[in-house]
Amino acid sequence: MVRLETSEAEKALLLETMKQYNSAANFTAEKAFELKIANKYELQKLFYKEIRSRFSLSAQFAIRVISKVVEAYKRDKSVKPAFRELGAIQYDQRNMSWKGLDKVSLTTLQGRLKLRTRIGEYQKSRADRIRGQADLIYRNGVFYLIAVVDVPNKKKRCEYEPVGMLGVDLGIENIATDSDGEVFSGEKVEYVRKRYNGLRAGLQKARATSRHRAAQRKLKRMSGKERRFKRNVNHVISKVIVSKAKGTTRAIVLEDLKGIRSRVTVRHEQRDRHSKWAFGQLRQFLEYKAKREGVPLLLIDPRNTSRECPECHVIDKRNRPTRNDFECICCGYKEAADYVAARNIAARAPVNEPIVAPTLTGSYKPTTLVIGS
Ligand SMILES: [Zn+2]
Repeated sequence: MVRLETSEAEKALLLETMKQYNSAANFTAEKAFELKIANKYELQKLFYKEIRSRFSLSAQFAIRVISKVVEAYKRDKSVKPAFRELGAIQYDQRNMSWKGLDKVSLTTLQGRLKLRTRIGEYQKSRADRIRGQADLIYRNGVFYLIAVVDVPNKKKRCEYEPVGMLGVDLGIENIATDSDGEVFSGEKVEYVRKRYNGLRAGLQKARATSRHRAAQRKLKRMSGKERRFKRNVNHVISKVIVSKAKGTTRAIVLEDLKGIRSRVTVRHEQRDRHSKWAFGQLRQFLEYKAKREGVPLLLIDPRNTSRECPECHVIDKRNRPTRNDFECICCGYKEAADYVAARNIAARAPVNEPIVAPTLTGSYKPTTLVIGS
């Protein structure tokens, strides 16, 4: 993530570009949804010219807008994708170029803009891995480029043949639970989460008062802190899970969550956590770390993973007397609900050979996880 230096005029121009870009995306989403078209080339054929003229966008922006819409629409065709007025702009080699490391040139509504970057030592060390793509985002009054970098592969990108499955339930009650029964929650996480939520509620109330401005500044600072905290926790958890799978030569198995938001009913107070605990981020970290370490990652159909008995395979709503507990109505098997889900997830992975019971080998030693301390 690279911070950009902008004058007031440059900022205004970038903001204007962002607005037009996202208006164009909303326009295109409307058309795609109305005509049920999820094909990039078909949309391009029909609307490319109109997008360009109507929103005065460059050719490359028009193409990028269409792919952004197609990507979102494909994910869930039952809803029309909606884009925020100041949502990210996608750049690539055709509308962005780096001039060394401390300058970058970006296409806007009015030609190119050459901007200085504020780049740190850490980022410099990875600069050789910058690829030609980046998202331009606007956050708390500042523009940043999120550049795509190549992750160096330690070994060649080949995966080992797994001798077992490590199912991982990305949960609501706990952040993650695996099929060995290891739970990743951490009281500290919970404590910090509550503290931020409490603080935020207090600060939002203060808006109506004369302390409005101070409260707003504090809110801004906090949103950054909280985001970094979550990111760090997600890094730690994903690292532990991936090294555990690797140390036991197992594959990681996750639920395929396409469309899960509309499927799962989450209670109101849980919904907050479900959407806010950077849920997607943990998956993303798991995926790229698994790939980097050569750990196979499999996705399974999530239907009834929390209702099926892993012992006798009876599927029944009543197997879950409460949100946290599982008790089979048929065989009486009783366990924590998240663990049961993780076991079912592991069991659903497609296998060619009978699974050998995992033994702990290699570098992984189970430990008690302390997050954020
Ligand atoms: Zn049972």
